[in-house]
Amino acid sequence: TDIPVLTIDGPSGSGKGTLAQRMAMHLGWHYLDSGAIYRVLAQAALKHQLPLDDAEALAQLAAHLDVEFVLRDQQLQVWLEGEEVSLKIRSEQAGNAASKVAALPAVRQALLQRQRDFRQAPGLVTDGRDMGTVVFPDANFKVFLTASAEVRAERRYKQLKEKGIESNLSDLIAEISERDQRDTERSVAPLKAANDALLLDSTLLEIDAVFSAVCDFVR
Ligand code: C5P
Repeated sequence: TDIPVLTIDGPSGSGKGTLAQRMAMHLGWHYLDSGAIYRVLAQAALKHQLPLDDAEALAQLAAHLDVEFVLRDQQLQVWLEGEEVSLKIRSEQAGNAASKVAALPAVRQALLQRQRDFRQAPGLVTDGRDMGTVVFPDANFKVFLTASAEVRAERRYKQLKEKGIESNLSDLIAEISERDQRDTERSVAPLKAANDALLLDSTLLEIDAVFSAVCDFVR
């Protein structure tokens, strides 16, 4: 396909979600939050009382997952089986559960085509862990965005607070490190930069500076 794709991968709290939404808006392209799919799947597993390590049942669930995304006023609304779960899936526990189901190869396989279907004209901006390496290896533009674990935990803390979710900073640092480790060390589609990705570190860069660097890159 010749529909252009910009992939933004990186660990949680690097600012990739904010950056991806801004780039999608700037370019007038579609947006895929791939992490939300894994979060919804974990939510569905809890709802249907499936253990988070039952690969076969979870792959089945993934293949038939009834999920809908609506981007409204720069907020991604997420629906699972007709129920709005936008807030519920954003807790750190939900992220952790997501990374458990995301480690299962059969689950990733079942979700591959569903993610590729988001590649619609005039273009797609997507964020996740394996967008540039596995899901869209032929993407026109690839970015890998990192930041120190401390800075990422602080950002997460603020983000959760804005959403009315209370959390504890040292718990967040521990949870983020645990999740990073699971995402980096898993056998299938681990978190890593594509060889042809632009590497950016947002530890010291403000989001505006990151945004303009990526605008220059895509231009
Ligand atoms: O990006 P977000 O924090 O919402 O992702 C939640 C979890 O989903 C990640 O920790 C990761 O385990 C998984 N994920 C993934 N591949 C992606 C996006 C997310 O494995 N492309």
